[in-house]
This record gives sequence, structure tokens and C-alpha cells, in this order.
Amino acid sequence: MAAQKLEDNTPGKYYVTDDCNGCGLCFAYALQNFMYAGDSSYYYVLEQPADQREEDDILKAISVCPMDCIKSDGELVNPS
Ligand code: SF4
Repeated sequence: MAAQKLEDNTPGKYYVTDDCNGCGLCFAYALQNFMYAGDSSYYYVLEQPADQREEDDILKAISVCPMDCIKSDGELVNPS
């Protein structure tokens, strides 16, 4: 079955799918943008990037995610 976007993600460009294994690497790289589920079994996008620095952190998280489950759908991020 194709990976599904997790419902917890804040709507926007970046999101985590249900392939996430809860390793927490994304949180280490982009603390301000990711959050863990109550049982820590998965992480999701809490905040879309507010500036270029945060976007760079998310891109780093994408590059290290072992499950390749942080995605960008190319939708415009609301800059406000
Ligand atoms: S790095 Fe990837 S697999 Fe690990 S918690 Fe984050 S989204 Fe999930």
C-alpha cells in the first residue's frame, strides 16, 4: 500500500507519511518544525518553515530520514 500522509501534519508544503519509524532524526535536525506523537511512535510536521533557515533544516532532515518519509508536495507555503 502506498504511504499515506499522516493526519497530524500541519497543512502545507512538507509532511511526514506513515512510513515513519519514530527514529527522531528529523526532530534533531529541525527541532522547531517536527513534533512526536504522544507515544513517540512517529513524528510529524508541526510547523511549516517560517524562513529559509527553517527550510534548510527541513531539507537536512529529509536528507537523513532513514525511511524517506518526509515529503514535499510543492504546494506554496503561506509566508505569514
Ligand atoms: S527522520 Fe524520518 S523516520 Fe525518523 S522520525 Fe523523522 S520522519 Fe520519521
